[in-house]
Amino acid sequence: MKKIVLASGNKKKIAELQEILSQFGMQVIPQTEFNVPEAEETGLTFVENAILKARNAAHHTGLPAIADDSGIEVDALNGAPGIYSARFSGEGATDARNNALLVEKLRTVPEAERTARYRAVIVMMRHADDPTPVIAQGSWEGRIVLEPQGEGGFGYDPHFLVPELGKTAAELSAAEKHALSHRGKAIAELVKQL
Ligand code: IMP
Repeated sequence: MKKIVLASGNKKKIAELQEILSQFGMQVIPQTEFNVPEAEETGLTFVENAILKARNAAHHTGLPAIADDSGIEVDALNGAPGIYSARFSGEGATDARNNALLVEKLRTVPEAERTARYRAVIVMMRHADDPTPVIAQGSWEGRIVLEPQGEGGFGYDPHFLVPELGKTAAELSAAEKHALSHRGKAIAELVKQL
């Protein structure tokens, strides 16, 4: 098995990627096992931030690396929060505070105009100086609802309506979400490229 370091300590991400990448003879090891310091996400695009994270992990371990970056774009907010999705409500942001701010900003916008999409980017680098990283992207179209619905998922899911289903992302099972989601599509695209 070829070792690849994942620029995250998130157990769900590790398990999901390990399942996919074992078919390519890769063993996913979280960067937390190497005490890799967190990369500063100073990029202005999901692609840049994913590259910064993968490069940082590769640099500190000497191994190939994989990283992802994701977020939600709301059209009525000119694409915000975008790359700032995790830190939308500022220092010490939580899902609850981020969602409260999102609802606040969209309160006067009619539902039909609350179109939005999740984006996910996954980057794989052979080494820290790799000039041609593998870049896989996925997106998922939806609409923001002001009243939260559902208990599943995380982040903005209770407010992300999937119009074809009449349900929010938080009302889907993990498997249903994976089949439709930005991250599921980015992973499928990564597999295609590999
Ligand atoms: P990242 O972990 O730096 O990529 O931050 C992504 C942020 O975007 C998360 O903290 C969430 O706020 C948001 N986000 C990305 N994907 C999802 C999703 O599938 N559901 C809900 N929120 C998401």
